[in-house]
Amino acid sequence: MDKKVIDLKPVRSALEMNEKPNVVVVVMRCSRVRKSSGVRFEKRVENKWVGTWAFELKEASAEREGYEKTAIGGSISLDNTYPGCPHCNARALFKCGKCNKVGCWDGESKVVICPWCGNKGEISGYIEILNASHDR
Ligand SMILES: [Zn+2]
Ligand SMILES: [Zn+2]
Repeated sequence: MDKKVIDLKPVRSALEMNEKPNVVVVVMRCSRVRKSSGVRFEKRVENKWVGTWAFELKEASAEREGYEKTAIGGSISLDNTYPGCPHCNARALFKCGKCNKVGCWDGESKVVICPWCGNKGEISGYIEILNASHDR
């Protein structure tokens, strides 16, 4: 059995945006329509990244701008103001344990299919991300 191949471990590819070293964009793909979006994470204190915004992203421009070159680590959460997936409004996200890319997640489904590589797996540790969602 190939369980727990999709998890919420908090390291995601991203890139520092322009002049602000504490803001990164993580490329996410919608699990329903498989379109890309960018999720903006802010580093508020050391090793704490908070997702505050999501916007539609053209796949080509994501590559051109190098959004997938940097990794962020530490505590990763979504702010209460996070608007959800721009394509389907899913309120959470997951990282595929196989390809390490990020897809949107409705926060409820136990089994998800990675919109990048088609890997199917169980969400594990989702309470972590629910608890991590906080306001400041
Ligand atoms: Zn979506
Ligand atoms: Zn995958």
